[in-house]
Amino acid sequence: MDLKMAPPPPVYKSASQKARWSSEEWGARNLYCPACESPEVQRLSNNTAARDFECPACHHFYQLKSARAWSFRSVADAAYDKMMAAVRSDTAPTLLVMQYTTEWWVRNLLLVPHFFLTPSAIVKRPPLPLGARRSGWVGCNISLVNIPADGKIMVVSNSRVVSPAIVRSKFESVRPVAALDVSLRGWALDVLNVVRRLGKERFTLDEVYAYVPQLAELHPENRHVRDKIRQQLQVLRDLGLLEFERRGIYRLLTRGD
Ligand SMILES: [Zn+2]
Repeated sequence: MDLKMAPPPPVYKSASQKARWSSEEWGARNLYCPACESPEVQRLSNNTAARDFECPACHHFYQLKSARAWSFRSVADAAYDKMMAAVRSDTAPTLLVMQYTTEWWVRNLLLVPHFFLTPSAIVKRPPLPLGARRSGWVGCNISLVNIPADGKIMVVSNSRVVSPAIVRSKFESVRPVAALDVSLRGWALDVLNVVRRLGKERFTLDEVYAYVPQLAELHPENRHVRDKIRQQLQVLRDLGLLEFERRGIYRLLTRGD
């Protein structure tokens, strides 16, 4: 992987056009498929449904977002309704978030497998004001804070290329999440996010219960949050991410980072 991007041709005037041209040109030359052994992904010329690249071997879809400014908290995405529809129908592409330098070098590249994009991660933005070119349009942000560490895989970290073998093995370790029905994934990943935030290998049910208010806020329709937590810990156990040691004590089997 060569971290130098080609600078955009002068025909592109706007910052977003420049970023798009250079990042996609870079991706076509440098991206491999983290979901299989394919050394390349193909650029999709007429990108429908926010799909920028497709793996020719396993047909995994990728969307590449790039910016000079970088935040581990939030990434701006497109229309809220479209994104929610894609999340609910399990058709959102896997997300690649790139940060590049003013000299057109890739500094960070973050991979978020599509099955980590749940309704809790999609945050509605206020509608564009009257008088704006697309007045009333509602966009969204992808809240990276609401995605567990397991679903945030660095491909390039601080100008260093992470070995593809490591990236692929991390992807492989979370792939069982994709088998969960899309209606169950949101809760399971929200509880996993809480467990990762505890920051320890062994934890108790009471420690997870301390996050009942936050989980209730993400799921205002559910009044049995404690029952839901216990149920989701069983789901995470069945996925091989943690085990029940003894009553009320759990142990994580994988590292989230
Ligand atoms: Zn592939």
